[in-house]
Amino acid sequence: MEHTDTDFGLSRLLCEWYDTHKRDLPWRHSRDPYIIWISEIILQQTRVAQGLDYFNRFVERFPDIRSLAEASEDEVLKYWQGLGYYSRARNLHAAARFMETHYEARFPQTYQEVRALKGIGDYTAAAIVSFAWNLPYAVVDGNVYRVLARFFGIDTPIDTGAGKKYFAELAQRLLPPKRAGLHNQAMMELGALQCVPQTPNCTLCPLADACVAYANETVSLLPVKQGRTKSRDRFFHYFYILYKGKTFLQKRVGKDIWKGLYEFPLIETNEACEWPELSRTHEFERLFSGISKLTWQSTSPLYKHVLSHQTLYTTFYQLEINEAGELPHGFHMIPTEDLDQYAIPRLIQKYLDSLVGNMK
Ligand code: SF4
Repeated sequence: MEHTDTDFGLSRLLCEWYDTHKRDLPWRHSRDPYIIWISEIILQQTRVAQGLDYFNRFVERFPDIRSLAEASEDEVLKYWQGLGYYSRARNLHAAARFMETHYEARFPQTYQEVRALKGIGDYTAAAIVSFAWNLPYAVVDGNVYRVLARFFGIDTPIDTGAGKKYFAELAQRLLPPKRAGLHNQAMMELGALQCVPQTPNCTLCPLADACVAYANETVSLLPVKQGRTKSRDRFFHYFYILYKGKTFLQKRVGKDIWKGLYEFPLIETNEACEWPELSRTHEFERLFSGISKLTWQSTSPLYKHVLSHQTLYTTFYQLEINEAGELPHGFHMIPTEDLDQYAIPRLIQKYLDSLVGNMK
């Protein structure tokens, strides 16, 4: 796409607005690509208000590439606990290790090299190189899709290959090379604060005079999405097993959610299943074989936990055993008071919090 006369006029309006309306966020005071990288990955997980705490704790403990590279994966996951999408934390760690080995613990200086790092896609690479070094790469995130779709009145679905390509080219065309970082941040901030998903107050918008969706009253219809990916239901049964002040955890491995996090012994079933049925399953027998006395103590309410593309229906059973027996390979027996030293999924944390709440 060629530049038109109005392209950089739009950028000027955005940057003037940004100058007076931008939020004062800690990572905006830095042009260190490491700080920008961490903040961007955290903000892909959560809202700014919650992300701030995570960001501050994370960069305090891991202030640079080297400290992150030299930490254990368990510790990195612990600092990530509660944010979800743990593969992103593992990728951060792997990319830091790669940079330590191949780039003397510094960020590589080109878009292509940054883009090649583990866990860094087009958006994050463009954010890092434009915010840190003002390189002319346009960012396209959810905020940018929304602003562009509305301002230009584009109804091409944003979740198709053709739509992604079209918006990426448009965003690139609008980018003034000399103030790439500022323009990118201004566009994203307008989407985050002004051109919000639900009922933006267009009368306050600096782009209102030329906004196609505002003029055509199609703001609420844009951007268009083609369709959602079907979600699948899973049924988890966790066993919080108590044995002389200790309990049992295993580390999740394999290609599934929460890889690298710790969890209680788990049985997954294909459909909803109550205790009598569950206790007769082959998996249950295998898990508790070798234990002569097992006392059921409580069953939690059903937890519904929605992740992208799957919904987990989970029940926790608290059980007591009188001998450790021979629990299957891979279980760690740990004192219950040490549970908070392990990175565990937020769902399990919620359950543990409810036990503390019940005791109060
Ligand atoms: S006028 Fe309204 S729809 Fe158009 S860019 Fe501004 S906030 Fe978004």
